[in-house]
Amino acid sequence: MSPMYCEKFRIPKHLEIADGAVVPAPVGEQPMMKTGNWRTERPVIDHEKCTTCLNCFAFCPDSSWHFDEKSEKMVWNPIYCKGCRVCVEVCPVDALRLENELNFKGGVARLDKPY
Ligand code: SF4
Ligand code: SF4
Repeated sequence: MSPMYCEKFRIPKHLEIADGAVVPAPVGEQPMMKTGNWRTERPVIDHEKCTTCLNCFAFCPDSSWHFDEKSEKMVWNPIYCKGCRVCVEVCPVDALRLENELNFKGGVARLDKPY
């Protein structure tokens, strides 16, 4: 926060924070940023447990979950998921677990060509 505002609102010195910026979420897929190639593990969903609370959608740093209105299920995007585990941690009903990429036929480690 700028010193001007700290003074105006009388924010104590020890509570001052640096200026920041809001970064708009991407509005579409970014072909130059295919973070799926980094992944060693992937989140696997149990649709029976999933309550479609949208936590994974909201917290995924790579927008790799979305709600499909037709099937009314959460859908995962393998091209952008980097396997960071954030979605697994924020799922309130343990509907997500991580599984090693090597356990999948089309796992990242098995691709001839990266995404
Ligand atoms: S593991 Fe990380 S990048 Fe992949 S879907 Fe979950 S939150 Fe997103
Ligand atoms: S956070 Fe868990 S319960 Fe919520 S939508 Fe994602 S998988 Fe489903």
